[in-house]
Amino acid sequence: MASIEMSHIVKQYGDGFPAVNDVSLDIADGEFMILVGPSGCGKSTLLRMIVGLEDITSGDMVIGGDRVNDKAPRDRNLSMVFQNYALYPHLSVFENIAFPLRLAKVPDGEVKKRVEEAAGVLELKEHLERKPANLSGGQRQRVAMGRAIVRSADAFLFDEPLSNLDAKLRGQMRTEIARLQRRLGITTVYVTHDQTEAMTLGDRVCVLRKGVIQQVASPRELYEQP
Ligand code: ADP
Ligand code: ADP
Repeated sequence: MASIEMSHIVKQYGDGFPAVNDVSLDIADGEFMILVGPSGCGKSTLLRMIVGLEDITSGDMVIGGDRVNDKAPRDRNLSMVFQNYALYPHLSVFENIAFPLRLAKVPDGEVKKRVEEAAGVLELKEHLERKPANLSGGQRQRVAMGRAIVRSADAFLFDEPLSNLDAKLRGQMRTEIARLQRRLGITTVYVTHDQTEAMTLGDRVCVLRKGVIQQVASPRELYEQP
């Protein structure tokens, strides 16, 4: 687990208006932070800078006390869940979840144990031998989450993970994500434009507009505003 401290973060693509413009935000160890705001406000860019998939133009990104500006994604020990799941169609559910452990050359016995643990938490145990194509949208999303939780990451990053699901599944998955995060207590940054997710999932909500933080508040504080 680790805190995420951003100070005066700027991202400039080309020579236009900065996509992220002087963002300073501290996310505590174990905290669940939501990033919301209209399309184009810089949510994904900020998330991608935390993971290391996007260079930071200026400012400091400190994760677990380490300045990570120049660290490659693989050296940051973070897990990201994408909107489009990014599952491998030719691999079984088991091997999809196991993927990060295979990359890390974890021994087979340990892989089996950890995949089964993750599958248990996510109620995927009966589906481990199936291929992604034979799963429902919600099950596929759970496999993507399984891959994120199978190794012990310092933080989870979610980029609109539920936006491709129908309303009913979204509700179910929302409950599951909340349960999972409480159980694991891992620092989480979650990008969404869904009001319900923003108001029910997070400890705090950071509202972005045109690359600038407008407000950081608890869901209750936001709700009670006039
Ligand atoms: P959000 O996730 O809130 O929709 P983004 O972070 O995707 O916003 O985008 C923020 C701004 O940066 C937008 O104006 C977008 O057009 C721009 N942008 C995002 N990615 C790139 C890129 N790779 N190259 C140039 N501009 C980009
Ligand atoms: P390359 O070194 O081939 O350019 P990347 O920089 O995209 O590859 O990724 C390097 C490592 O970071 C990979 O081992 C990959 O597992 C990990 N990685 C890439 N994207 C993410 C992500 N979104 N979340 C967590 N880890 C990632």
